[in-house]
Amino acid sequence: MNAEQKHHLKHIDRTVVWHPFTQMQDYAREEPVVIARGEGVYLEDIDGNRYLDGFSSMWCNVHGHRVAEIDRAICNQLDRVAHSTLLGLSNIPAIQLAAKLVQLAPSGLERVFYSDSGATAVEIALKMAFQYWQQCENPRSQKTAFLHLTESYHGDTVGAVSIGGIAHFHRLYRPLLFSAIAAPAPHPYRCEHCRGSCDKTCFDALEQTIAEHAHRLAALIVEPLVQGAGGMFMHPPGYLKRAADLCRKHGVLLIADEVATGFGRTGTMFACERESVAPDLLCLGKGLTGGYLPLAATLATDEIYNAFLGDYADMKTFFHGHTYTGNPLGCAAALATLEKFETDRTLEKLQSKIAHLADQLARFRTLKHVGDVRQTGFIAALELISNRASKTPYPFEDRIGHRVCDIARQNGLLIRPLVNTIVLMPPYAISKREIDHMLDIVFSAIQTVTEGDAQ
Ligand SMILES: *Cc1c(COP(=O)(O)O)cnc(C)c1O
Repeated sequence: MNAEQKHHLKHIDRTVVWHPFTQMQDYAREEPVVIARGEGVYLEDIDGNRYLDGFSSMWCNVHGHRVAEIDRAICNQLDRVAHSTLLGLSNIPAIQLAAKLVQLAPSGLERVFYSDSGATAVEIALKMAFQYWQQCENPRSQKTAFLHLTESYHGDTVGAVSIGGIAHFHRLYRPLLFSAIAAPAPHPYRCEHCRGSCDKTCFDALEQTIAEHAHRLAALIVEPLVQGAGGMFMHPPGYLKRAADLCRKHGVLLIADEVATGFGRTGTMFACERESVAPDLLCLGKGLTGGYLPLAATLATDEIYNAFLGDYADMKTFFHGHTYTGNPLGCAAALATLEKFETDRTLEKLQSKIAHLADQLARFRTLKHVGDVRQTGFIAALELISNRASKTPYPFEDRIGHRVCDIARQNGLLIRPLVNTIVLMPPYAISKREIDHMLDIVFSAIQTVTEGDAQ
């Protein structure tokens, strides 16, 4: 590609493409990074700059880019058929993948409903939970409300936003949304309750809310172990288990949104495994295809599934579907991704990388504007604060997280902040040396931005 062609591409990008979660007024002023290719844990732009993919291309890449087995699986499927619908028909990879997902998922999840993004997987879970209570053996028609945690994130479609708790994303849309009930998110660093030592009052707050509203609650939806987009809140051990027990006790369904935590991100295939929790509904997306293609799935128990059975005229059908539901290329990519977990023993090898990341993160605690260093599995978060003693955040308009990530990018690392929190979430294929390199770049970028010098 010559200089003129590159310039033209960037011009069209600035003037035609509307980027998600992006203030386009700022974007139009900056030089766009146009990715041309990837290889392993690296991405390369049209100008030949190479970047370490420190955020797994928005939390979805697993084994790296251009993985031979996944590339081949997609090409092989392409030789047969690219797409055919699941409405009234089936296809080979969709069947094989469903069997695989049921085998891997927490016990009791026996039915797989496909869609194409995390948000749709959540919408489907919400509608299934709602409809379940209307049609189950002893219908409870008043159970129509949903409980979520504050600072929750479940996607950007209107139903998912209704159970979202991030004010700066969600507040504006209030008039459009169905009302939902929120319980306080447990967040050890900024806990209102414990001030240092956890006395588990957040557990009690959840219990109170569930007990008070159980008669009208269809379901509780949670991001197990780690609340992602809200700022990487890492829940105290036992919280998920307690939530599951409370749901069981009070007759409330549990929806686990593992769109971000699923497929090894927390160190086990699913975060629910860490606390031996088996939800009633499980939402999967992001890493499902190894970060290759848009595919998502909602898994349900037989108990829920059975409530949708009946004579056609009973109108118990789940009247929901998407055009590309169960897309064969996506399912083939997912099958190859899951197979590679086994052949490469990915999760086994990931454990020492998780430990290495933990060791190497320790030095960030010496930086005076890093208030909290937290990690669950292969998710690390560094919360920047203007004053450490008072935990005072930087003002929103300072764009402190963005400034750190901009400098990291200039030094060959792609990451995205969550306001003032720097998130590190590389593909599992990253080596220990590359982890060190990634951390070196982040360390000096934080120093430069928060202390005004590089060393
Ligand atoms: C990203 C995310 C979603 C939404 O997934 P999309 O594919 O972006 O629609 C839902 N839930 C959680 C926990 C997520 O992190």
